[in-house]
Amino acid sequence: MKQQQIASTKALIDFIATAPTAFHAVEEIASQLSAAGFTPLSEAHYAELQPGGCYYLTRNGSSIIAFRMPDSDPLGLLIVASHSDSPTFKLKYNAEVNGAGGTLKLNTERYGGTILSSWFDRPLSIAGRAVVRSNDGISTKTVTLDRDLAIIPNVAIHQNRSVNDGYKYNPACDTFPLIGEAASAGKLQEAVAANADCATEDLLGSDLYLYNRTPGTIFGLNDEFFACPRIDNLQCAFASLQAFLSAKPSRHIQMLAVFDNEETGSTSRQGAASTFLTDTVDRIGEALGLNAAAIHRWLPSSMMVSADNGHAIHPCHPELSDPQNAPRMNQGVVIKYNANQKYTTDALSAALFRQICENAGVPTQVFANRSDMMGGSTLGNISNTKLALNTVDIGLAQLAMHSCYETGGTSDTLSMIRALEAFYAITIESVSDGNYKIS
Ligand code: ZN
Repeated sequence: MKQQQIASTKALIDFIATAPTAFHAVEEIASQLSAAGFTPLSEAHYAELQPGGCYYLTRNGSSIIAFRMPDSDPLGLLIVASHSDSPTFKLKYNAEVNGAGGTLKLNTERYGGTILSSWFDRPLSIAGRAVVRSNDGISTKTVTLDRDLAIIPNVAIHQNRSVNDGYKYNPACDTFPLIGEAASAGKLQEAVAANADCATEDLLGSDLYLYNRTPGTIFGLNDEFFACPRIDNLQCAFASLQAFLSAKPSRHIQMLAVFDNEETGSTSRQGAASTFLTDTVDRIGEALGLNAAAIHRWLPSSMMVSADNGHAIHPCHPELSDPQNAPRMNQGVVIKYNANQKYTTDALSAALFRQICENAGVPTQVFANRSDMMGGSTLGNISNTKLALNTVDIGLAQLAMHSCYETGGTSDTLSMIRALEAFYAITIESVSDGNYKIS
């Protein structure tokens, strides 16, 4: 068992290394789906769907929805949703800026709620996508500069004696990474164009982000933990992909959704608040010759798992967790509750999901924020405003969420894969509101 847990953690670390940005995460997920025989569809074109067929669509290159059709008329939908983006810094349009002492810095802005201090004094690189001129229009390519390129240097303690007394970093100044000497001005554009395989003048646009190049590692006296960039939320994206790939066709349309822009509120063309999921469900209905009302009748016999990590109890700060509902790393899948429905979990969805985990032999635990603390929100409640179905919010327990180097438990990825495999295998049939037949 321990060996399997370590193997799944190593596989997760390898997956995360392929995915410095949401664009790369989606590219890697698409390539794994293609290798497993899934057919890529285009949002721009009608496609016939075969019983038992497997398909996927991307939007903006940074969100992806894959689905597996049942062999007969669908009973409903079984969806696992996670997110592809992580907090970071985005390079501004005119990114190169002269620094003091003949240096060249990068003009950046925060993407999402990152822990600023975690980005200092470590090798960083740049990745994202480039839009380039092509023979008949424009085309988009992922870009990975993939070498130690920049560092955000701290000010020496002798020049900032209060740095250990709660220093307030200013993202308009303190977090501009050093990328070279002034004489290197213009070289970033050249490097991006070369990586996108185009002439510099054909580079028409780019969305570029900083990323932490420190590889993931397993640590602890008994290899209990691992540390890695972007655990939130590539751990759930990875686990849901593995579970989805190994699922067998069922009576439900099984879906895997990985959305971009969760860290900035999901309100983009490709985020969980967009029409991407409903458009995909409509497309499936159209291919089956069903009207909207017929599709709506799927929803009572459907379920969504919104998978996004939660906070483990901190070894030095137990007071920051709820006294009763504080999950621990390596103790299984976390079911997340919030009275104000920041998390969708309720008695019904929790009962369904807990039963699934129990049958699969996967331990579950519970997360709730301390009653005087606001937590983050996630995908489930946002997605539910577009496609309303019974939803549970779950995740894995981790430390240092939104640091550029987070910590998780080595047994947890495997627990999540097992739980989601069991989820994709269920048949859930609505008998009446709140009553289900499950097999
Ligand atoms: Zn997250």
